Amino acid sequence: MKLLEDRIRADGQVLDGQVLKLDSFLNHQIDVELLTELGREFYRLFQADGVTKLLTIEASGIAVACAAGQFFRVPVVFAKKSRGKNLTGEAYSSLVESFTHGCVNNISVSKSFLCPEDRVLLMDDFLANGAALRGLISLVEQAGATLVGAGVCVEKAFQPGGDELRAQGVRIESLARIKAMSPKTGVFFC
Ligand code: 5GP
Repeated sequence: MKLLEDRIRADGQVLDGQVLKLDSFLNHQIDVELLTELGREFYRLFQADGVTKLLTIEASGIAVACAAGQFFRVPVVFAKKSRGKNLTGEAYSSLVESFTHGCVNNISVSKSFLCPEDRVLLMDDFLANGAALRGLISLVEQAGATLVGAGVCVEKAFQPGGDELRAQGVRIESLARIKAMSPKTGVFFC
């Protein structure tokens, strides 16, 4: 999606360790108008698929999923990374290794918010090794719900997550796919 690629070129910062920092519009400060356009594009891509729920993971996926939720007009559910006192009752849970923080999170969703009748579209800001999406897929499977696919803003295609998940039959739509990047050269798109 040209709009997103242009914004990444203009405002993205490639850090060592192959992390792309998009803090000025996606991961810290949020450009709501831009995210609304991303949400509209996800809706265009998946509108025929009978989506009943958008599922993401806190924190950065929430804004993206809410932007898309305005168009799908279905509830947005986010998996919590820590199980606080207010996540009472039974929950589906799964372990996810964090790419950016290097720790393992036990993500969970209350059983009240995912059911076997649901057709679930996963949403996230980035796709790298695929751990976050795999954790979310496990929650969908535990609920007996149907996985429609995943909408991702930025896929780092030089990392294996996207290819591995597609090989397993998961439909993944990425709005910007990066084939290479470095602090010196910047970002190259597929
Ligand atoms: P994965 O689980 O696919 O390895 O990584 C995806 C998750 O890690 C996303 O939820 C995102 O929050 C974070 N992430 C992965 N790569 C990057 C990156 O280059 N920049 C930022 N800001 N987050 C990333």
